[in-house]
Amino acid sequence: MSTTTKPTLKHALIFVVIFIVCLLSASGCGQRQLVRPTPQMDAPSEFWIRVLLVRRAGSCTVKAASGFSVSGAGVSNQVRFGAGEGPGKIEISDGRIRIAGRYFEGKRLTITPERPYIFNFNGDDYRGKVEFIINSEGNRFMAINLVPLEPYLAGVIGAEMPHYWEPAALEAQTIAARTYCLYIKNRHGVNRSWDVKKTAANQVYKGLVAESASVWDAVNRTKGRVLFCRQADGTEEIFPAYYSSACGGHTENSKNVFGDSFEPLVGVKCPYCRKVTKPTFFFWPMFEVDKESVTKNVFKRYPKLENLGEVKQIISAKEVDYKEFSRVVLVKLVGSSGKSGFLRAEDMRLSIDPTGNKLRSTIFQIADMGDRFAFLSGRGYGHGVGMCQCGAQGLARRGRGADYILYYYYPGSKISRVY
Ligand SMILES: [Zn+2]
Repeated sequence: MSTTTKPTLKHALIFVVIFIVCLLSASGCGQRQLVRPTPQMDAPSEFWIRVLLVRRAGSCTVKAASGFSVSGAGVSNQVRFGAGEGPGKIEISDGRIRIAGRYFEGKRLTITPERPYIFNFNGDDYRGKVEFIINSEGNRFMAINLVPLEPYLAGVIGAEMPHYWEPAALEAQTIAARTYCLYIKNRHGVNRSWDVKKTAANQVYKGLVAESASVWDAVNRTKGRVLFCRQADGTEEIFPAYYSSACGGHTENSKNVFGDSFEPLVGVKCPYCRKVTKPTFFFWPMFEVDKESVTKNVFKRYPKLENLGEVKQIISAKEVDYKEFSRVVLVKLVGSSGKSGFLRAEDMRLSIDPTGNKLRSTIFQIADMGDRFAFLSGRGYGHGVGMCQCGAQGLARRGRGADYILYYYYPGSKISRVY
């Protein structure tokens, strides 16, 4: 045995040094993979989305691993805090917000974390900034996540569609979601301090937890691409590119569901979602609900119908017939007072079951069970307008690209880049 192979103190030291270097570099690499930088932080304000996090809070928790700054109209100079001086609990008292032990004047304050522009709000990680707007009584605040469009979409797509679906389906979903939120921002956001909610009322947004490599690929590959349609005056505009989970066999004209009419939001035949979904998902089980809770929930949302007394009968007043099935679009509610009123079927559905998880669509038949209503022969999931998400996956499995999928579900639309 040669002396050079004998372990010596020198060899042992070299081994320990190499081991430590390996450990340090491995942990460094790990961190770099975990924290993807937030793109578009220098985007113009027209491409920032304001997501309502909480409407009326007395306190909240904000954490940032990086340093952060506080700015606002009442803050003479931007106040900077170093990493580790996390804001922690944020409270309001006498109309002033307390952040990291300091009171700030002003009705609107913004916390901007430093690179990689990530903060944690009440336990969830988000990108961008967080703005606080104090109410007129000075005892509650609204919290809004200000986030550029592309990182916003990274937090939406994985919450709206399984991240392991076909890349073309994820890309189609991204372009539809980008179009939808820009439309809502330009249409409704101008009249309020926020653009969208983080729930299915708009698009589900979960921040960092919904991100994945496949979702970021879909966002990056479709960067700035949105759908346009022709207006009556010949100009081209973006439109609310609605989408829903599974149409049940035919998508629905938006006029019948949301009351608006855009050329690409007509119904199209969809033989593609059925094979993507499980039969128990495509055909939903009978849903029974007592008349008392129907009355309570419908009146809560539509108080003008209170003159009906108790809802005694629900009659399908208008259906769109697709041969194999039909979708109820208008219902007549007959009350104990003898009076009756009309409601869009989709509005009734979401009044009775705001989650939409039981009364899953308006493709149903209504049966009167005495003190209850039963909704039978249900199929599909969601409002059925615009892109059918399961159908998009079905088309992608057949090798169709994102543009084909979008032109199929939004006929007459055109895809263009806004940046
Ligand atoms: Zn479908």
